[in-house]
Amino acid sequence: MQRPYNFSAGPAAIPTEVLEQAAAEMLDWHGCGMGVMEMSHRGKEFVSICEQAEADLRELLAVPAQFKILFMQGGGLAENAIVPLNLSRAATVDFVVTGSWSQKSYKEARKYAAEVNLVASGEDGDFISLPNPAHWQPSRGASYLHICSNETIHGVEFHELPDLQALGSDAPLVIDFSSHVASRPVDWSRVGLAFGGAQKNIGPAGLTIVIVREDLLGHALAICPSAFDYKVVAEHGSMYNTPPTWGIYIAGLTFQWLKRQREGDASGVAAMELRNIAKAELLYNAIDQSPFYVNKVAANCRSRMNIPFFLCDETRNDAFLAGAKARGLLQLKGHKSVGGMRASLYNAMPLAGVEALVAYMHDFAQQHA
Ligand SMILES: *Cc1c(COP(=O)(O)O)cnc(C)c1O
Repeated sequence: MQRPYNFSAGPAAIPTEVLEQAAAEMLDWHGCGMGVMEMSHRGKEFVSICEQAEADLRELLAVPAQFKILFMQGGGLAENAIVPLNLSRAATVDFVVTGSWSQKSYKEARKYAAEVNLVASGEDGDFISLPNPAHWQPSRGASYLHICSNETIHGVEFHELPDLQALGSDAPLVIDFSSHVASRPVDWSRVGLAFGGAQKNIGPAGLTIVIVREDLLGHALAICPSAFDYKVVAEHGSMYNTPPTWGIYIAGLTFQWLKRQREGDASGVAAMELRNIAKAELLYNAIDQSPFYVNKVAANCRSRMNIPFFLCDETRNDAFLAGAKARGLLQLKGHKSVGGMRASLYNAMPLAGVEALVAYMHDFAQQHA
């Protein structure tokens, strides 16, 4: 079924095949007489769904054995509190602020960590470039250093994760990878903990994925809620309390879909990365080559997932959005804090969708030249 192309930043498009399978299984999952939303999270049916989803995610992201995969609730913003509650050890934590999301994380951590140190910030440059990691000076003995590896609103992405050891720091790196999880491989040798809400690139809102190195468990502050204590969650296989069962199920279907994707010899996340590079290049080239549109983000950190752009004549914004909608190109309006347009090109967006957007941008520019 050909649906409109949905460029939403999140909750975002889900592969049509996944939605069709979920619809077909809605009333009766695999002949058990129940839909997934109606079954006990401790029954053998759901336990098998959950275990398969976790194993598939581990395989897709090549998560090493010494990392736990946790399925939690609360979204990225709750993790802004849960991470310091678990990892700060009542000591100093370091932050690099590169856009709205890491700024929120930085502010929230101040409620829980003894001291929060701003190591670098892109704010002076309007968050259109990334502070060069070579110049960062992490605090001595910091409990961790936090970055947002893809800033969904400002459209800046770390194409390579910083190597904290090379900067003389033993602190574990914490990454908020909400909006580019599963769009590219992760270098786990540089990461202590990664978290992300599912609703950008994996499935429905309500599921939060946390991938954490085992040695970081078991140091939660006394005030940490038990349901948010990573050690407790890990010991119970993400079933200390009722997990977001529907979200886990849809994420699991998405992981199966991801495993089926091929691009030449590549499959899974490696295939998605090739596709995502091609999609982003197509759109950035269209923007850069037109006098009608502009994207201000520095070339070395342009996000492959979230591409903000502006019409040089902003009085035409409403006409642009209306025309896009009429051509089946949905949710292109930029975030209110940045304005303009934003196209989110998550895994579920096919190259054909970006081609349709670029063709529309070309036609619109010609009409209004
Ligand atoms: C969307 C988003 C969040 C917030 O997620 P919620 O699920 O709304 O809490 C946090 N970080 C990043 C990078 C995001 O894109």
